[in-house]
Amino acid sequence: MNVQPSSLTRPPLPEALTAALSARFGDRFSRRPADLEAHGRGESYHSAQPPQAVCRVASTDEVAAIVTLCAAHRVPVIPFGAGTSLEGHVTAPYGGVCIDLGGMNRIVAVRAGDLDVTVEAGVTRQQLNTHLRDQGLFFPVDPGAECTLGGMAATRASGTNAVRYGTMRENVISLTAVMADGTIVRSGGRARKSSAGYDLTRLLVGSEGTLGIITELTLRLYGIPEAVSAATCTFPDIASAVGSVIMAIQCGIPVARAELLDARTIQAVNRHFKATFAELPTLFFEFHGTPAGVEEQARQVQDIVSASGSGDFHWASGQEEANRLWHIRHNVHYAVQGMRPGAQVWSTDVCVPLSQLTDLVRITQDDVMAASFFISTVGHVGDGNFHLGLIVDPKNPDELAEAAAINDRLVKRAIALDGTATGEHGVGVGKRKFMELEHGAGVAVMRALKQALDPLGILNPGKVLPDA
Ligand SMILES: Cc1cc2nc3c(=O)[nH]c(=O)nc-3n(C[C@H](O)[C@H](O)[C@H](O)COP(=O)(O)OP(=O)(O)OC[C@H]3O[C@@H](n4cnc5c(N)ncnc54)[C@H](O)[C@@H]3O)c2cc1C
Repeated sequence: MNVQPSSLTRPPLPEALTAALSARFGDRFSRRPADLEAHGRGESYHSAQPPQAVCRVASTDEVAAIVTLCAAHRVPVIPFGAGTSLEGHVTAPYGGVCIDLGGMNRIVAVRAGDLDVTVEAGVTRQQLNTHLRDQGLFFPVDPGAECTLGGMAATRASGTNAVRYGTMRENVISLTAVMADGTIVRSGGRARKSSAGYDLTRLLVGSEGTLGIITELTLRLYGIPEAVSAATCTFPDIASAVGSVIMAIQCGIPVARAELLDARTIQAVNRHFKATFAELPTLFFEFHGTPAGVEEQARQVQDIVSASGSGDFHWASGQEEANRLWHIRHNVHYAVQGMRPGAQVWSTDVCVPLSQLTDLVRITQDDVMAASFFISTVGHVGDGNFHLGLIVDPKNPDELAEAAAINDRLVKRAIALDGTATGEHGVGVGKRKFMELEHGAGVAVMRALKQALDPLGILNPGKVLPDA
């Protein structure tokens, strides 16, 4: 039977299912309204639709047991990591059972000699990095929220370090997943490369819980660089800031982080963090390497930014100042939200080939300036990815319509420039409507994959693919 999401409804959960889950999970099976509410909403502007039950799991076998039971009853299952996703990924429009993997947080094995680690899906990136620090190792992918590595793999997340170390796509070596019929599959071993068959790892990375539930991951690790230094510089306009990063990348300078914050974002940062940055478009840079290598990279970048009109190049005076800089960058979302108490951040991201980024950012600024509400522009510009944070009143339909129109124009321009509707946040429910435009006939291939792997349509229904 093929149940398309649009034909699913929210009938009450079958009593036989709730009885079986309650018997097996005890207190870890919940139908308390507060629990349901907390699991039906990510950090997005999308309206929340709570699941009908939540199960907190402790092992792959428990996930398999829930999926097997839910499949028998044709009930949707929605995997949940930390709920920080931004496009309505965890909402449950068709009801069902939310599987909360946050308690699966064991670090299974660190293999320093192979530079890899195996973790359960609920381990967070901060937890992992705290664990690794004493061994001189780190995991680089760093979204600006306390999220789980399972959720990060499921959304193919990235962050400030992606320009140097890649995204989850490059950093997941293999994974264990529970498929829609309850089968447990390991997508590969720990070899750094393999030509053996279809690449199930990369099929599941970015599938947002619609093709399988990730329970364990083996990830690449890196040595903590011998030398790290950070710097900021300001620009008279946003296009020169973006242009100088592009120039640095095109010159082959291996910058580790190159983050743009526009003047409005800096204004929000100054207010929220009681900081004193000049309220101009600003780049935050970080360089990794040997002491001599870092000095050389920084000198080359300094030459490029001054030729692009940067007024200053300020070195972080030590580790404490550098840490503060990245703390600020990771919490920009909350600084921007503070510009309008009671409002919500509609956070959207697109990504384009590097050569198209300056034009896209420049054109988008017309929308930013004309909007009736505050919009912040930030970007992981080293890889062509930038974000708008539209600060809207979620109860004001006019503002929501205006925000939706700005978002539509942004995404359509990015796709027209051979880019993508989302560089890192994922599709969820919010960007499903752009999938045909971006992928054309590829959407039918995706539907065929979904149909083959989840013929009952129970895995996180209503996400990623537009209704047929
Ligand atoms: C302040 C802030 C800053 C952010 N910055 C960034 C950023 O820089 N880069 C970036 O990429 N994102 C960013 N995000 C978005 C968010 O942090 C990421 O999407 C993150 O990867 C979500 O992880 P999570 O554990 O919270 O997953 P959840 O929100 O719980 O789930 C996300 C999706 O993955 C599915 N899922 C969760 N766990 C699993 C699993 N084990 N198996 C299968 N499917 C699963 C869910 O069903 C859902 O579809 C930011 C969010 C906030 C609030």
